[in-house]
Amino acid sequence: MKVLLKKKVDGVVRTCGRCYDEVKEVFPPNCNEKPEALKSQPIGQYHCPDCGAMVIGGVPHPPLCKRCLDRKHPGLDDMKGKDEEEKT
Ligand SMILES: [Zn+2]
Ligand SMILES: [Zn+2]
Repeated sequence: MKVLLKKKVDGVVRTCGRCYDEVKEVFPPNCNEKPEALKSQPIGQYHCPDCGAMVIGGVPHPPLCKRCLDRKHPGLDDMKGKDEEEKT
């Protein structure tokens, strides 16, 4: 399976499999979840129980950006408590 990579003038841009941000560098996921191990099972897309990224049964976990690797992505990991602050 070929993966299409988006290219910009300033270099290769990769997409994080969790936050879908376009970043310069992505890293192998530090999750225990191994979606590729589910190849024989009729599982489609599901959320990785470790990081919450959308993964597909039978397909290896997509790479993550540094922020997601650290679970420090704004908007995804800063939901401490349930304060509903509306910032525009
Ligand atoms: Zn990310
Ligand atoms: Zn994960």
